[in-house]
Amino acid sequence: MSQALLSTDLSGQVALVTGAGRGLGRKIAEFLAGAGAKVACVDISPELLAETVSLLQSAGGTAMALVCDVTNSQRVNEVVDEVVKAWGGLHILVNNAGITRDGMLLRMKDDQWDSVLNINLRGTFLFTRAGARPMLRQHRGRIINIASVSGLMGNPGQANYSASKAGVIGFTRTVARELAGRNVTVNAVAPGFIATDMTATLGEEVLEGIKKETPLGRLGQPEDVAHAVLFLASEAASFITGHVLTVDGGLSV
Ligand code: NAP
Repeated sequence: MSQALLSTDLSGQVALVTGAGRGLGRKIAEFLAGAGAKVACVDISPELLAETVSLLQSAGGTAMALVCDVTNSQRVNEVVDEVVKAWGGLHILVNNAGITRDGMLLRMKDDQWDSVLNINLRGTFLFTRAGARPMLRQHRGRIINIASVSGLMGNPGQANYSASKAGVIGFTRTVARELAGRNVTVNAVAPGFIATDMTATLGEEVLEGIKKETPLGRLGQPEDVAHAVLFLASEAASFITGHVLTVDGGLSV
């Protein structure tokens, strides 16, 4: 009898997903809970977070809501402590919270640069530093950072966003090397254009152009990204670390 190729049973594991209030974070939280993990849902918006948690719970999952701005170092540490205290550990961390504040270079304001770098890159650093502690103690952990093809290819109007996501990729590769000795893997998923509120603001004409440029001829769906995260969180990915998995319909090929 051959073994199943992919086991995504995450029963008994504790996961934390940032930016879980909507979009990709909500879908990732749903997939992890569906695979049996207890999911700590983190977001800056209490209302959206409550919706995500009741969605997960009504599907039979175990979830809790933790309101947190990922740029607030003290609150990030408290959140990780609360999760470890409540559920006895932390096995899977998904750094997903992120924003765009697009503008061409010469017109880009300081606060557009700072807010994007702060949330996308500093937030990933703060949660990774806090989450790594229990993972190192456990000798087991999975950290999955949501980057972007913008961080690989560049994208006009997104100097701040591309820099933050390229930073996330460099950070991922370094932390993968630092934590590997204790069986903690660190990988990134780099989505192309995915149908969420973030891309809805681009408008129909731009989205049609993106579909034409994408070899697979469509936008991605949140499920496409959640599947990749689930794989990296699963036992099947235990020998993968420091990798950037593009989920972009071939856009960056
Ligand atoms: P989204 O729909 O805008 O959702 C982002 C979530 O993050 C929101 O719930 C938002 O809360 C939360 N958030 C924002 N700032 C936060 C903070 N300081 N602390 C905690 N939570 C915060 O975005 P998405 O499309 O799902 O994107 C999720 C991730 O994927 C981001 O890192 C993004 O860069 C990346 N990504 C997306 C695409 C795409 O095409 N959609 C492509 C490549 C990469 P509020 O609702 O209160 O703002």
